[in-house]
Amino acid sequence: MSRNIEELARDNVRTLTPYQSARRLGGNGDVWLNANEFPLPVLFELSQQTLNRYPECQPKIVTERYAAYAGLQPEQVLVSRGADEGIELVMRAFCEPGKDAILFCPPTYGMYSVSAETIGIEYRSVPALENWQLNLPAIAEQLDSVKVVYMCSPNNPTGNLIDPDDIRALLAMTAGKALVVADEAYIEFCPQATLSGWLQDYPHLVILRTLSKAFALAGLRCGFTLANKPVIDLLIKVIAPYPLATPVADVAGQALSNRGIELMRKHVAELNSRRAWLLEQLPRLSLVQQVFSSETNYILARFTDSPAVFKSLWDQGIILRDQNKNPGLAGCLRISIGTRKECERLIAALQALSVERA
Ligand SMILES: *Cc1c(COP(=O)(O)O)cnc(C)c1O
Repeated sequence: MSRNIEELARDNVRTLTPYQSARRLGGNGDVWLNANEFPLPVLFELSQQTLNRYPECQPKIVTERYAAYAGLQPEQVLVSRGADEGIELVMRAFCEPGKDAILFCPPTYGMYSVSAETIGIEYRSVPALENWQLNLPAIAEQLDSVKVVYMCSPNNPTGNLIDPDDIRALLAMTAGKALVVADEAYIEFCPQATLSGWLQDYPHLVILRTLSKAFALAGLRCGFTLANKPVIDLLIKVIAPYPLATPVADVAGQALSNRGIELMRKHVAELNSRRAWLLEQLPRLSLVQQVFSSETNYILARFTDSPAVFKSLWDQGIILRDQNKNPGLAGCLRISIGTRKECERLIAALQALSVERA
């Protein structure tokens, strides 16, 4: 019997809805506030001009500099094609398709479920509490055959940190049974909250980091997995032989130099003060029902008639991230913090819209 190409594909791939990335969703804007990127480029010069040789699997300068930055040993660091690859590597190393499961607590980052679906691993979602903290009793009930729990702190898209006491309780209930992956993609905006110091106490803790947000390098595709050596050794078994192109390692090394880190910290301080300004401005608008506090480079807010607000801004070239269809986030839009001009343009547009609709 002959089958068409579609029918030859795996069932889970045929039914898969791919991750709706900001880039995929498109738009024709000049104010891009939808992907939590840093709003301005950081410039680099390639120091390595020859590309005839394969790169190192784990470029030494990158893992050593990241380890120093994170206060860890190089053997506790894995570098990969963005944190997104780290999310998937943990599943591929620890979860048996069709047998093991992962667990996460929505509303949260969308790639945990997309990766699980792609690989064919069952996923369980245990909704966060109303204050967006972990529902620990509900998690405890769902842990059977769970091998990895993904926990994002500060959480995307809500912007809040997860209570460290709850994380300790989660680590206690999963000890010896499952890994806990703490996604710290935004930790540079609240560095005191990192769990990196906890690695010495918890062999089953894994931390994800990225150069895509505070380091202003989303286009580089470079991320890190931090864990104890036994975990890293397993992940290295399943990673591609050359995950990082030579120019990527080159630029990542520069971003992680003392100068690069200093520049990142200056950028973070600027964004954090702009966030304070936005948190002051947004609640004054009649269209805005609720503004959630944030430890990150974005703000989640609930609007009256958010589809109309989203569309009107979109038509003016101001592109936000619509969270309306996300469970628990009806009426919510996520706003990445841009340049001062971009933030002012956003507030001006929302003011005009508030007047128009009053
Ligand atoms: C942006 C983001 C990532 C992905 O980071 P990359 O390094 O660009 O792959 C992972 N987790 C969360 C929560 C993010 O917001």
